Amino acid sequence: MSACKTCGKQLSAVNRTGWCRLHYGAANNGPRTAEQNRRQWSDPALRERVLAPLRRYNRTRLDWCPFEYQDYYRELTRVKHLLAAEARCVVEGLIAADTARYARTGELQQSRRRM
Ligand SMILES: [Zn+2]
Repeated sequence: MSACKTCGKQLSAVNRTGWCRLHYGAANNGPRTAEQNRRQWSDPALRERVLAPLRRYNRTRLDWCPFEYQDYYRELTRVKHLLAAEARCVVEGLIAADTARYARTGELQQSRRRM
């Protein structure tokens, strides 16, 4: 049995935070201080904990799309302003068509096309 770090109320045996329900939020969800930010960004391990998921997200966002079609996908979404789902549909159709033509002719279409 322990007690709330703020008000001293008895906590149940399963409590892991060290605060009662009333005081947990105030102690942990308050606005971050400049000192907290400085400490986080000067510590490589803590900085990595924030940046790694962002880096992973950026790397895996287009992982459905083969590398040689990614420029075409970006052109569809950025220059021609297709929605991501529409552009994906177009690219997947193109891949299917290229695969079928490759099976028939043995020529790699994506290496002959200028995208
Ligand atoms: Zn409390």
